Amino acid sequence: MSTLTPDTSTIQAADFKSDIHNDWCPGCGDFGVVSAVQMALAKLQVPPHRVAVISGIGCAGKTAHYMNAYSFHTLHGRVMPSVTAMKLANHDLTVIGVGGDGDAYGIGGGHFVAGGRRNLDITYVVMNNDVYALTKGQASPTIAKGQKTKSMSEASIMDAINPILLALACGYTFVARGYALDTKYLSEIIAQAIQHRGSALVDVLQTCPTYNDLHTKGFYAGQIEGQPRLYRLDQSGYDPVVHNPDDAVEIAQKKAQALLKSQEPGGRIPLGVYYKLDVPTYEDHLKAKIPGLQQKPLAELDLYHRDITANLQELM
Ligand code: SF4
Ligand code: MG
Repeated sequence: MSTLTPDTSTIQAADFKSDIHNDWCPGCGDFGVVSAVQMALAKLQVPPHRVAVISGIGCAGKTAHYMNAYSFHTLHGRVMPSVTAMKLANHDLTVIGVGGDGDAYGIGGGHFVAGGRRNLDITYVVMNNDVYALTKGQASPTIAKGQKTKSMSEASIMDAINPILLALACGYTFVARGYALDTKYLSEIIAQAIQHRGSALVDVLQTCPTYNDLHTKGFYAGQIEGQPRLYRLDQSGYDPVVHNPDDAVEIAQKKAQALLKSQEPGGRIPLGVYYKLDVPTYEDHLKAKIPGLQQKPLAELDLYHRDITANLQELM
């Protein structure tokens, strides 16, 4: 998150709401996710002018319009390149990417992988509803083999991507999962993701009542053998934190623990932080190489009035 001191201590979630008409379907889980992002920013007292929100294409992609902050509605699958550019241009901003499952893990899959490797200090919130909802509900990469929503003509014949596993493999240093209709807890998870120094993924189970009749509010509220389908990791004695970042064995063990949790047999789904590792960010490495960045972000450096005479003479 931004290292700047907030301008005021009275920032409210409502301060991040834009006056653009919202055309999401009634009952869509996306409402809860945007509210959670706004609540998280208010909780952290980050003023709107220190926040940049980038969203991709899809229903989730409209988020940039619904936020009162610097915002950018980018190309399909290009949330991560845009987030990267924004953060590199001004590392003092709190930069948040928002996209859908098709945008993040399908069309933008390669960029998602590279984003984890860099460990920029950014947050990526993915609204995961198993379908390409904006284009009438085709199967997305997160729908499981054999599943068929009312918008699909046939059941999926491909295995699903597991976003938690993917993020762990790519190097994201904060990996979490939330539920769109538990806005309060989701906002706490997103606040932790923003506070984390490094690349953070929050995969959000998001209901799409228009096209996904499998993973509904009722499904997520269901019970398995007398236990709620959704439960909180932080209430089950689970510790996601790597306590010694120099200990490769502990890192491997914590990743393995998260890997197992993300594939819990029986169908129960854990919510919360699966994995957290505190190590230097991409910006930290850049600052070590480019001392000017230690004083100011790139956007504020006077790059155009440098005396390059010495460089030119070297070339002659
Ligand atoms: Fe939400 Fe689904 Fe409607 Fe898109 S199609 S706005 S994801 S309910
Ligand atoms: Mg989707």
